[in-house]
Amino acid sequence: MSETNPYMMVGERLCMDFINTVSWRESAEKRRDWFTSYAKLVDWCIHAEVLTEEQAKALLLKAEEQPSEAGDVLKQAIEMREVMYRIFKSISKETSPHSPDLERFNELMSHFYQTLQVIHEKDHYTLKFKYTEKNLGTMLPPILQSAVDLLVSKNELERVKQCEGDPCGWLFFDTSRNRSRRWCSMADCGNRAKARRFYQK
Ligand SMILES: [Zn+2]
Repeated sequence: MSETNPYMMVGERLCMDFINTVSWRESAEKRRDWFTSYAKLVDWCIHAEVLTEEQAKALLLKAEEQPSEAGDVLKQAIEMREVMYRIFKSISKETSPHSPDLERFNELMSHFYQTLQVIHEKDHYTLKFKYTEKNLGTMLPPILQSAVDLLVSKNELERVKQCEGDPCGWLFFDTSRNRSRRWCSMADCGNRAKARRFYQK
């Protein structure tokens, strides 16, 4: 988890990158949440290609008019992220997620699915969440959907791993051929572990 690049994306799945928006996740002292404001959440969403610059601008204007709604969305985003973190962390440890977390996940899902719609695009139809800047939380459903897709995938869950760097806590989807990836990033946690081994010798 780089301190210098606030938008490091190494999770290989949107939901993993979303979960990794806390640096030093598992350290009480060093833990740093990137989502310190609604604007930061929106900014991250541009980087993650969940929102276009134009959509983001419209949302930020709306948020200025409705600061308390924006605050609620930020809270909901963080809650959703932490629920997803706990579920996927359990999966990475090959244990079952706690049922309250899965229950909450399902509540969010049924809430968001109300905005699903079939859209006619030229020669085909697609299922998409309705985007509307009237809803300040309009960016959250596609992020949750990325987690749904991974959860119900076949033979993919065993690729969900937690970085071995302590106290990094980041999660990632291991796309390596022999599933040998151990770190969120070789340049960060990987190098630190190598250096530690060197000094121990
Ligand atoms: Zn790491």
